Amino acid sequence: MSRIQIDGLTRRFGDVTAVDGISLDIADGEFLVLLGPSGCGKSTLLRMVAGLTPPTGGRVLLDGRDITTAAPRERDLAMVFQSYALYPHLTVAKNIGFPLRTRRRRDVGARVAEVASVLGLEELLDRRPRELSGGQRQRVALGRALVREPGAFLLDEPLSNLDATLRTATRAELTHLHRRLRSTFVHVTHDQVEAMTMATRIAVLNGGRLEQVGTPEEVYDTPASTFVAGFVGSPAIGLLPARLQSTDGLLRAVGDGVDVPLGPGDDEDRDVLVGVRPEHLRVGEGAATWRGTVRLVENLGGEEVAHLDVGSGRLALRGPRPLGLAVDDHVRLTADPDRVHLFSATGGRRLVRTPEPTRAPVAV
Ligand code: ATP
Repeated sequence: MSRIQIDGLTRRFGDVTAVDGISLDIADGEFLVLLGPSGCGKSTLLRMVAGLTPPTGGRVLLDGRDITTAAPRERDLAMVFQSYALYPHLTVAKNIGFPLRTRRRRDVGARVAEVASVLGLEELLDRRPRELSGGQRQRVALGRALVREPGAFLLDEPLSNLDATLRTATRAELTHLHRRLRSTFVHVTHDQVEAMTMATRIAVLNGGRLEQVGTPEEVYDTPASTFVAGFVGSPAIGLLPARLQSTDGLLRAVGDGVDVPLGPGDDEDRDVLVGVRPEHLRVGEGAATWRGTVRLVENLGGEEVAHLDVGSGRLALRGPRPLGLAVDDHVRLTADPDRVHLFSATGGRRLVRTPEPTRAPVAV
């Protein structure tokens, strides 16, 4: 069991600031996902927590103890990498037991058997890594971390080498494992579906900085910036330029192909970006409106996605198949005002309307 406090961590590599003053308080038993695009500093942040990369500034505390300069093996943390890094000449049992043997523990056999049963590897204990599938190898790598009974697991893209089916299965296994062990997990990924499905909280990183930390629902329903809004959700949220206008105490966002009533309000005139998620758009008359032309309709099996040109921008509309739309159709779209997001046109931060709409969690 471990609480990990990250306090103003910074890491520079020459001119590059890979991690720029990030602070995060990760509670005991959390499954925190560090999410962001390639190069945003996720791995560097995780490696600083693990003790593999020394920070340029800031501190890491483990259960209140400052471990910023402690050696990795003094940290009671186990790291699992994207590359499985198994010993090719050792059996599965010996790979899993390795960390215990180096610590000269006597209960190696019993612990290996226990971990193998948790991960469903009992039948494979005598095999060597080359005789295993990618998913099985990843489970062995996890087993080698598990066997140490660390206070926390640090996972760096552990699923990215797996094919789509295995990835989904291993995702579910990891979630199950987290529930069983109740240990702290910090998991790095650029895959928003992994983040949404596994995390208790998501920390979204961009250019070495923290954009937002919140539950998957908070990050999806009330993204703090256009970056978060665009990164989480597929197809991506539509973001169109408009200007806020207030007439007789009623606020609207007005732009090219956009005329969206936002309810009572008297904000001064300002430029905004109006965001709406594809599943919240409907065809037809109604409160919020966009006017556009269908450019493409994609069949996803159970659902269809229509991509529309609206003014100089694009919107996607997702719904059950068939949507009843065809290329070149001119359509008017609506959404609940509660589902419309407003962001500053300069800087892209979320503009909070009071009261902020309250919503039920949205599944993706
Ligand atoms: P990815 O998903 O591609 O692994 P990431 O979000 O984990 O990316 P990092 O690996 O943390 O990103 O890298 C952050 C930035 O720091 C990048 O610009 C990277 O090029 C740079 N960087 C990372 N490690 C080093 C290093 N050892 N020397 C120089 N620059 C580095």
